Amino acid sequence: MKTISVLGSTGSIGIQALEVARMHNIKIKALSGNKNVKLLEKQAREFLPEYVCVYDQNSYKDLKERLFDTDIKVISGMDGLCKAASLDGVDMMLNSVVGMVGLLPTLSAVEKKIPVALANKETLVAGGNIVMNLAKEKNTPIIPVDSEHSAIFQCLQGNDRKDLNKIILTASGGPFYGKKKHELENVGVKDALNHPNWNMGNKITIDSATLMNKGLEFIEAKWLFDLEPSQIEVVVHRQSILHSAVEYKDFSIIAQLGMPDMKIPIQYALLYPKRLPSPAKRLSLTECGALTFEKPDYATFECLSACILAIKKGGIYPCVVNAANEAAVEQFLNGKVSFLKISELVIKTMEKFPYSEPNSYSDIENADKAAREYAISLI
Ligand code: MG
Repeated sequence: MKTISVLGSTGSIGIQALEVARMHNIKIKALSGNKNVKLLEKQAREFLPEYVCVYDQNSYKDLKERLFDTDIKVISGMDGLCKAASLDGVDMMLNSVVGMVGLLPTLSAVEKKIPVALANKETLVAGGNIVMNLAKEKNTPIIPVDSEHSAIFQCLQGNDRKDLNKIILTASGGPFYGKKKHELENVGVKDALNHPNWNMGNKITIDSATLMNKGLEFIEAKWLFDLEPSQIEVVVHRQSILHSAVEYKDFSIIAQLGMPDMKIPIQYALLYPKRLPSPAKRLSLTECGALTFEKPDYATFECLSACILAIKKGGIYPCVVNAANEAAVEQFLNGKVSFLKISELVIKTMEKFPYSEPNSYSDIENADKAAREYAISLI
């Protein structure tokens, strides 16, 4: 069986990945979390990895003391994350950390030719060309974990890539589906965290409410599958049963369906190309009811429009919209800005920056930092 490293093991994807690992006896070489030392300790004692990384440097001592009676090495910070991502002897690194923080560990793994199961979409949004160029150069696969991208990846199997017309990226529409802009003026954090179908971390749940998540996925798909923006169609599908589809030249559409359960795409990435029983629930087509499809409301959900514009403009713009959004969502979760302010900050920040093409990690880091600072200065 495989040996993997799991970055972001205390988050929603990481916890479910460990469930998959438990079921299929996948060995864990490294675990990492942000600062939830209690859960990290519990996971470490169960899976006995060689390394555990706690990203938050202030939590290092605490975790080290908790694991003093074991042989597990405790590391921390960005250096620790990159080490955990690129250890010798692992078959795959699952990157499920939240935000831009995930970019450098992805590059570290690819540099060592370690295949990456990617659940950190910001990696490709901010550093798409750099990551994909390096992956090509190192001949190292990047396998998507995001449910939509996993669906597309699955629908591409066994077909000739040059016969592809377009992909159909489905969106649940989030908790504010059907609402117009003026109805969203007073929505609170609790309303936005109330997602109809998926149970996820806070940042991605807010991104789902603004449809920023779909915008980030649009950009992610462009890089993962080497597409033109005109080859990506976003379709609102309220039931989250059809996880995305592809259309071929002959106008055949092939889709992947299943329960809205992340354990299916996580397992597909970890065991690819094998298919084994999964810990997810089984979908019954006769019980799931009608499936509906419609166009998104781009005028209300401006974050989605902003992301599509950003990838059409290219250069640093995807990185800029992502950074502005990360800063804005943090402020929204802290009660500092309103819900509608999130898209306003994203758009205004994009308008502020002149075009430039990032050629290195430090170009991206600089653009990210400047965009965050500018977005915060507007509050
Ligand atoms: Mg998704």
